[in-house]
Amino acid sequence: MKLDVNDIRYITSEEFRVLTAVEMGSKNHEVVPSSLITQISGLRNGGVNKHLGSLAKRNLIARVQNTKYDGYRLTYGGYDYLAMRALSKRNSIHSVGNQIGVGKESDIYVVADEEGKQMVLKLHRLGRTSFRTIKTNRDYMGKRKSASWMYMSRLGAQKEWAFMKILYEHGFPVPKPIDQARHCIVMELMDAFPLRQINEVASPGQLYSELMDLIVRFAHSGLIHGDFNEFNILIREDTGKAVVIDFPQMVSTSHENAEWYFNRDVECIRTFFRRRFRYESAIYPKFRSTLNEPGAGDFQLDVIVAASGFSKQDMKALEEYIENTRENEDGSDDDEESEEEEADESVSEEDAETGGSEAADGSDRTDREEAAGDVSSSSIPQD
Ligand code: ADP
Ligand code: MG
Repeated sequence: MKLDVNDIRYITSEEFRVLTAVEMGSKNHEVVPSSLITQISGLRNGGVNKHLGSLAKRNLIARVQNTKYDGYRLTYGGYDYLAMRALSKRNSIHSVGNQIGVGKESDIYVVADEEGKQMVLKLHRLGRTSFRTIKTNRDYMGKRKSASWMYMSRLGAQKEWAFMKILYEHGFPVPKPIDQARHCIVMELMDAFPLRQINEVASPGQLYSELMDLIVRFAHSGLIHGDFNEFNILIREDTGKAVVIDFPQMVSTSHENAEWYFNRDVECIRTFFRRRFRYESAIYPKFRSTLNEPGAGDFQLDVIVAASGFSKQDMKALEEYIENTRENEDGSDDDEESEEEEADESVSEEDAETGGSEAADGSDRTDREEAAGDVSSSSIPQD
């Protein structure tokens, strides 16, 4: 999905009021009736209709007909706009550059502040992939169902923000968190590339130990990453050290399935090292003994996060959503796995299948370079 910076430029304060009214109405209406939008915005009826028309033209909202009543819903673009405007008002971001990543459930952009310092903007897109399956589970969203994608995307960002902050404050190798608004996070741009794109390292054994030590360090602090794989581990260009990203699925070591999550993280690393670097070690962390080691429990980061305002209920809703989407994906993943396993003996074959890691690496760099020249050209206007 493209972030259209032009949309951000031209909007009047009345249009902004109408857009905000649509967002507010979305909290309990899948389609927000025009009359409700007028009421919330506190503007004259005729004026509101005109503004609705121009907002719809820019795809910030979408007109929905053929329901019980005519109305509008906020689009991803509209939600992006509201979040970026908030970030820009707080001077966290000033301009938007190139997209450097399209995750399954996020879009990643290079942005810059007023001084031109580059950062990363992550827009959470939960609900983009398999919301249809989730929606069929009627109880799932309860009253919130109508605003599900917005609600889940915001929860994802809030949780990621809470964890990234705490981890950063406790010296974990994670990007510096800068700001958060709605479904967006602004963080430090790492001069680093995903482990996935790296075909050679000086010492696989050393990197392997570093990553396993990180898993242990997380666990000693009461946490499990939950998606600790070659896509979410970046390798710094300067030091060759690992940086961990992507936290919406982190769980506590006191979670009922903690051991299973822990083992999955450990297995991801073992499998990747076996395939990519032909490196295998008999040494890897075990959940129970890790928790009994000296040093375990010194910090209970999961408790601190729970106290930081991210409610148990929200945590649960997000967790169910993430597990639910994963389960849906897992079926197809399994097939890919076994195909990969057969083709495995050569890494290049695997890479050929997925588009080639060299190409991915190269294009990423180009993106990054282009982004560097691009950011200043699309500044976000202040009004
Ligand atoms: P998703 O939840 O969609 O997997 P991630 O947070 O894992 O999103 O980010 C997706 C990709 O974007 C990463 O694999 C990485 O290439 C890039 N990326 C994300 N955050 C940063 C960052 N702070 N610095 C540099 N690259 C990043
Ligand atoms: Mg990721």
